[in-house]
Amino acid sequence: MTVRVRFAPSPTGELHVGNVRTALYNWLFARQHGGRFILRIEDTDVERSRREYEEHILEDLRWLGLDWDEGPDVGGDFGPYRQSERLALYQEYARRLLDAGWAYRCFCTEEELERERERARAENRPYRYGGRCRHLSDSEARERAGAGEPHTLRFRVRSGPILWEDVVRGPVRWDAEVIGDFVIVKSDGWPVYNFAVVVDDLLMRITHVIRGDGHLPNTPRQLLLYEALGATPPVFAHLSTILGADGTKLSKRHGATALREFREQGYVPEALFNFLALLGWAPPQEVGEILSCEQLLELFALENVSKAPAIFDLQKLQWMNRAYLKAKPLDELVTAILPYLQQAGRLPTSVDAAIREWLRRVVDAVLTHLDHLSQIVEETRIIFEYDLSAALAYPEVHEVVEDPGALDVLARLVEELADVPEITTETFRAAAARVREQTGRKGRALFHPIRIALTGRPSGPELDKLVPIYEIGATLALPHPIPSVRERLRMFLTWAERVRAESPSR
Ligand code: GLU
Repeated sequence: MTVRVRFAPSPTGELHVGNVRTALYNWLFARQHGGRFILRIEDTDVERSRREYEEHILEDLRWLGLDWDEGPDVGGDFGPYRQSERLALYQEYARRLLDAGWAYRCFCTEEELERERERARAENRPYRYGGRCRHLSDSEARERAGAGEPHTLRFRVRSGPILWEDVVRGPVRWDAEVIGDFVIVKSDGWPVYNFAVVVDDLLMRITHVIRGDGHLPNTPRQLLLYEALGATPPVFAHLSTILGADGTKLSKRHGATALREFREQGYVPEALFNFLALLGWAPPQEVGEILSCEQLLELFALENVSKAPAIFDLQKLQWMNRAYLKAKPLDELVTAILPYLQQAGRLPTSVDAAIREWLRRVVDAVLTHLDHLSQIVEETRIIFEYDLSAALAYPEVHEVVEDPGALDVLARLVEELADVPEITTETFRAAAARVREQTGRKGRALFHPIRIALTGRPSGPELDKLVPIYEIGATLALPHPIPSVRERLRMFLTWAERVRAESPSR
């Protein structure tokens, strides 16, 4: 029997990381077993479903590296793959259940049902449908329906236990008594979720349903429907809830939760793929946690997925992302950061070869500080902005301004650099060495004022990397030109002099 699994998102919003993990586990399971991975769009909530969300879902899944064998865009033998295009099938199956007496017409109005719910609340018991229309005679029900009286179709729930063996949770037992006859077709003719899913899973020959445990209460209802249709149900695997670091259900309060948000922040797909695969499943200890798609395909085991809630540890995701970023070729990273810097107005819309070459140095200088790519804008502030008035916010900058010895270092450095034909890391170091000879200042006493003068900041990337970045950067056609090394030193000295002159203590 070919394994056939499906991912069945509702296009009512952006893809949540919890759903993405569900998709990923389905995909891994299908690919491991040489099976089929099916994408089905559950758009029966007409009010909230949007085509635009559907497009985003497809895009995001593809971005993550998941592909599907059947789906709304690629078709397949068991389509259509959008529920809104399958209404005739649901009608056909509803008719079958009705004819066999498994379903009945319910004429209770919304107000009547609300009163029932109200009573249950007041008596502090869980609500279930009281069953008023369960015993209507067939002829009366037909007659009222024929006269145009609005009605739903309800499933006649049998008594007795409902049992299944869940791959993740083990044996599960549900008591049919607590369920109450549930609606399968609404008065407008649209199927409800539990019914549509069973018809689809059945017709699409789904062998394993792997989904979030939020659907646990739906499973007994779905099993009853399979039973009534005389069909063998698929195997179920319910994945645990994902919690935030504080132990509450992962939500907007915890920050980004949509795959798209992580994507926009510049997390790479391999990192999210790896991270989400480990949300609820752990590889054998000796292989570590950085695992490629191939390794995950080899190691993943649905039966070892934990039923304990998984914790979404953002720091771990950041750590993984850094690991994947570091392993990427510099050119690929340059391409990836371009849009962020362009959007921030730091780079021209079309970037020439010289700028690209220079960006390799920029990325190399700040890479270790990046958890995700959008941070490039903040982390390169020190390269694109030279703002001495803002520098005074740092006490260390004040200290340099107030230290004649430090200013002397800078003045001498300007002189030593005057005749240097080309400032490179090496020629700059040599000039600094001559200043050390002249002043006797070395180490931090020498380099700290230099760093402050060049960057306007007390800390940042290595000077050895910054010097050529400034020097070459000054020659490039950037939207906001950046000063060269010499210009920085001169600007700083002039500015420091002015600050000292204006200082009230003098
Ligand atoms: N459409 C459902 C959801 O987005 C999934 C249904 C299922 O997996 O059975 O939660």
